[in-house]
Amino acid sequence: MKIEHDVVTLRLTHPFRIARTGADDVRQVVHVRVGDGIGEAAPHPYYGESVDTVRVAVDRYAAALRDLPDDAPVERAMRLVDASFGGNASARAALESALWDAMARRYAAPLWRLWGADPAEMPPTSFTIGIGSPEEMQRKATEAADYSILKVKLGTPRDRDIIAALRDVTDKPVRVDANTAWTPKEAVRACEWLADSGVELVEQPVKAADLDGMRFVRERSPLPIIADESVRTAADVTQLAGRVDGINIKLAKCGGPTEALSMIRLARVHGLQVMVGCMIESSVGIATMAQLAPLVDYVDLDGNLLIDNDPYRGPPIADGVLALQDAPGNGCSAV
Ligand SMILES: [Mg+2]
Repeated sequence: MKIEHDVVTLRLTHPFRIARTGADDVRQVVHVRVGDGIGEAAPHPYYGESVDTVRVAVDRYAAALRDLPDDAPVERAMRLVDASFGGNASARAALESALWDAMARRYAAPLWRLWGADPAEMPPTSFTIGIGSPEEMQRKATEAADYSILKVKLGTPRDRDIIAALRDVTDKPVRVDANTAWTPKEAVRACEWLADSGVELVEQPVKAADLDGMRFVRERSPLPIIADESVRTAADVTQLAGRVDGINIKLAKCGGPTEALSMIRLARVHGLQVMVGCMIESSVGIATMAQLAPLVDYVDLDGNLLIDNDPYRGPPIADGVLALQDAPGNGCSAV
């Protein structure tokens, strides 16, 4: 089995800022290829990864799988991968995604069919508005006319001004993501006034490791609380049961589609809601996660909409909904 990878520089349409970081105007991702399959690593420094760590990991994977035939089962390949080099969730996700894509393309089947998802059940995706001045965020909300749900990044001294500015121009459902910015008490106060502003849910109000803080907020908040930075893999899901209302699953955090599926099932066992999300990434990563998205409650797969040089084309968006096609594999094709 031959594994290849290349680094791709994505250009952001607008510089992107959230509570935890400064503004970015480019992001680098790594595309991993196995036969006709492709997967994407969107490494994030918050999770200890970079393009360089991904390249090292993928080279190690390539060495571990060198003697395996191209049509070896995905599970067998991933057992060898895990025995060779652990961690590196986004690199692992890229390889596993590429293996699934290659397999599904061999059988001319879309991945959503293999994974038991029904495109008719796809929830609409939210469109993310990064932190800016209230006026900038208002302008971005107006530009998001094609999307029925907005996800707004907060955690600034001007949060109330931002929401008021948005409410001047739109009555769409708004989801708020604080990206760990608040203390538990600040978060409860924020949830109260956000509920009065027609906000639908709040993502990661407090620090990732502060699971009791998440519970404190959840017990007092009129809005559902969704964990993002607090949850990476299935092992974290059980910890969060009873402390939050739901979890946000991303390939770059969990290490691949198989783990994502396990997390969806485990979340259901614990009565948790499920969101699927993304990093800023091209249509390769978005299209892969979209294959699972009909299985969840909330879809936040817009990373490819925030860049202006996407090298791939994935499922089209119709009325704010990712429209999964009958195309084999992840359904992506080069532009
Ligand atoms: Mg988030």
